[in-house]
Amino acid sequence: MQQSSAQHITLATPLSLLKGIGQRFGARLQKLGIETVKDLIYYLPFRYQDFSAITPIKDVLPETVVTVFGEIVSTKIYRTPHKKMYIVEATVSDKTGSIKAVWFNQRFIITSLKKEAWINLSGKVIAQGKHLIIQSPQYEIILKGADPHSGKHTGRIVPVYPETKGVTSRLVRFAISKVEPFIKSVPEFLPKELTVENKLLALATALHTLHFPKTLQETYHAQERIAFQDLFLLQLINASEQHALFNSLSHSCQYDPKDISEKINRLPFVLTLAQKKALYDILEDLKKPHATNRLLQGDVGSGKTIVAALAALVVAQQAKQAIFMAPTEVLALQHYTTFKKFFPYFEGGVALLTASHTALFLGETLETELPKKDLRAHIAAGKIKIVIGTHAILQKKVIFHDVALVVIDEQHRFGVKQRAQLLTQADTAISPHLLSMSATPIPRTLALTVLGDLELSLINELPKDRKPIITKVVSPQKRDEAYAFIKKQIENKRQAYVVCPRIDPQEEAVTKKKLFQWEARSVKEEYDKLSKKIFPHARVGMLHGQMRAEEKTEVIEAFKRGSLDILVSTSVIEVGIDVPNATIMMIEGSEHFGLSQLYQFRGRVGRGTHQSYCFLFSDIHSKTTQDRLEALIKAKNGFELAEIDLRLRGPGQFLGEEQAGMPDIAAKAAKHPAFVAITRKAAHELIKKDPTLSEYPYLSAYLALFKKKIHLE
Ligand code: ADP
Ligand code: MG
Repeated sequence: MQQSSAQHITLATPLSLLKGIGQRFGARLQKLGIETVKDLIYYLPFRYQDFSAITPIKDVLPETVVTVFGEIVSTKIYRTPHKKMYIVEATVSDKTGSIKAVWFNQRFIITSLKKEAWINLSGKVIAQGKHLIIQSPQYEIILKGADPHSGKHTGRIVPVYPETKGVTSRLVRFAISKVEPFIKSVPEFLPKELTVENKLLALATALHTLHFPKTLQETYHAQERIAFQDLFLLQLINASEQHALFNSLSHSCQYDPKDISEKINRLPFVLTLAQKKALYDILEDLKKPHATNRLLQGDVGSGKTIVAALAALVVAQQAKQAIFMAPTEVLALQHYTTFKKFFPYFEGGVALLTASHTALFLGETLETELPKKDLRAHIAAGKIKIVIGTHAILQKKVIFHDVALVVIDEQHRFGVKQRAQLLTQADTAISPHLLSMSATPIPRTLALTVLGDLELSLINELPKDRKPIITKVVSPQKRDEAYAFIKKQIENKRQAYVVCPRIDPQEEAVTKKKLFQWEARSVKEEYDKLSKKIFPHARVGMLHGQMRAEEKTEVIEAFKRGSLDILVSTSVIEVGIDVPNATIMMIEGSEHFGLSQLYQFRGRVGRGTHQSYCFLFSDIHSKTTQDRLEALIKAKNGFELAEIDLRLRGPGQFLGEEQAGMPDIAAKAAKHPAFVAITRKAAHELIKKDPTLSEYPYLSAYLALFKKKIHLE
């Protein structure tokens, strides 16, 4: 049968035309975007259940997961008296003994359970009184005389697929068994040298293994092949973007080292060596006649802004424009203030343009608040050289003039797509140089994979005048002591941040307060408690994501001005916020945050000359929590913690929401760091040789599919 139909079926055949799948299952699979034979073959399991060993019934032990193979001796269906739940029971025996299986609320199962049929049952065994039962097992009727290992759902290494309503793993396994014969016709698309050199399985072999593995070991090798190809495809995208950038035209801005030194010498502080190195990298980028793409990474407080600002001044000196984009109004305002404060002599024009602020600085003696319309006109005419704003600048379609440099602060919030949009919108035929800045320490392998092909600069030291932040894990018994300490700091005119894991109290926690002491603390509750009971004389503010943008801005501005002593907030408080007078960071429920995140919170204090403190409160007192927090105390820099976090919590936390589809690939990069380097090199070589991949039609086709999968198109 299959032989004859195989002749008309290709990888492109819709599944609904396949015998055994048809309209009914076809429509359900379609919901998952699986339409053709090929789509289904590409729908890969995300884990496996090892049901390959068959256990004689007499050897079954409680609290284990087993597969037994036996004959159905009796079946029963009944309802529980009160809950009206259906219970299906079957007793099964082999040569060694018998055992009962039970299913709850799955009435339909009874129709499959025919007496004297042979069945595989795979599931967890529990003890019920003196008897053992298998609870809600996977079940599968095995034809008389057939091998119990011939099952699809039992008796083998069983693949588990991502499920959705109406599409269970069982259905996918069933459907896959119908297309198994066609897997071998999936063509290879990786260049041969790559598969040979890296000892990769052929694509068809890998796919077959993933759906029908004989051993778990085998699946690792197959997964490796898929990881390699995904990373290679991503690197191809990166390499061709890079290629396009390299062939684009951009303003080449020369700098005068003497002039730069002069500007640096006029600053009220000495630049760190790392800052100088980063500045040099950026200035060299600016000289290039083609667009460059650099990520400047550095711990919070390491002084990235001043470095980017100096680069912007070089651009302005060449009569070109530089754009600064910040994720929030508060940060845009902060950047604007930085320019005014450190470069009061600059007369080329610094504009601030956000939803609620406009300002124009033309040198110490001249600052005005122009109407937006006029400001935009000046920008379009090229009369203003430096423009600072939020990413609303993009949506407002401000017309720029001769943009040579775009600086994106805290770029991980923008995501891949917006960056691409920015590049296209910023100017006509000339591509600006792009400088992104981030305090999120993204491990290098990850950055090179998911952020695209960029150059990296690192500021890995803090300014000399910083005192290390004293960090303490505070046990619940010591809470009052910590409060007393904070009170003293506030009396000395210092300020404190309090970060909580959630906005609202949890319902459970309200009703069963005493029982659920460990429920995560909320901003609203803590705000009440701190402002009324603990620090009744202090000025306490609250900040969280449910507040309107203007309300948030107001609160942050008040804290920056010093009109608030304590700011209770969720993690929304901007990563780049700079309040040198804040010396206390108190983190509630610290076990709820990732290590890198805690590190970032802590970085918001210790920016001035006063000694700063970070108190980590945790209502859970376990050894693991303690160990994690200790890692934070010992860590030398954010990167060290990021690597630990990457191992403990996976790569998702390093990526913005915009990068849906990326976490999976990022996980592969993290698991196979060697592949990142190999695929990157191979992708560059290939794109150099054949930029449009015209000689690789299969590869081209897969690349298009892949872009869709990771939402890049
Ligand atoms: P981030 O890297 O987190 O964006 P900022 O650029 O906001 O850090 O800098 C933090 C603070 O440190 C600012 O007040 C800035 O003026 C100051 N600063 C920057 N560089 C130095 C330096 N070399 N020495 C002392 N203070 C510096
Ligand atoms: Mg910053």
